[in-house]
Formats: sequence, C-alpha cells, structure tokens
Amino acid sequence: MYEVKITTQFAAAHQLRNFKGRCEQLHGHNWKVEVFVKGKELAEDGTLVDFHDVKEATKRATELLDHAFLNELDFFGEMNPSSENIARFIFLRVSEQLDNERIKVSRVTAWESDTACASYFED
Ligand SMILES: [Zn+2]
Repeated sequence: MYEVKITTQFAAAHQLRNFKGRCEQLHGHNWKVEVFVKGKELAEDGTLVDFHDVKEATKRATELLDHAFLNELDFFGEMNPSSENIARFIFLRVSEQLDNERIKVSRVTAWESDTACASYFED
C-alpha cells in the first residue's frame, strides 16, 4: 500500500457538554489536522494523489470550522465537538470529495495540543 499525508490547521472555540474537566468551560484550540490517503496502485505519473487536491478538499472541510464556535454547528448539535468528532467531521467531508476506486481517505487525526490527538478511520 501507498499512503500520503497532508497537514493543515484551524482555530475554533468549543465547550464539551457533560465533560467532567476543564474542557467543560468555553475555550479554544489551534487544531492541527492530518489527512491520510491510501491506495494500492499509483497513477500513471507515479503519484498516489495530487497533494494539492488533498489540501483543497481538506480546506473545504476545515473552513467550515475555522474561527467558529463549534457547538453552534448543526453537525455538533447532538454530539460534542470533541477532537474525536472533529476528526470524523473532516473524514466524512474529505472522503466524499476524494474517494474513488483507487484511493481512499484512510485516517484523519486532529491534534488539539502538541501532545494530545484523536483519530477517526473506518474498517
Ligand atoms: Zn478543548
């Protein structure tokens, strides 16, 4: 298998409902996002996917989050805007743009600090 990764970041505020800890208070993070794409076969040009295409698809997902109060977005109306669910939000939006018979988004990781991250992927 081949796998490529792009990274980007966005800034947003959130508040975790029913969370017993400091994240229950309104606060913000500069999330760092990693998007992984995998596939078994390369295109004719020897690449798995154009990095630019992955970056553009990711940008269309993260610009919905950037400088937002995440709790106010429909997607996070029922579920908490945790790093886990942020990774899932981005995974779903990037994979619907990029996945085809040859390549697939394999994982999205959202880092909420230098030392803590959460990933979403599907079996
Ligand atoms: Zn937080």
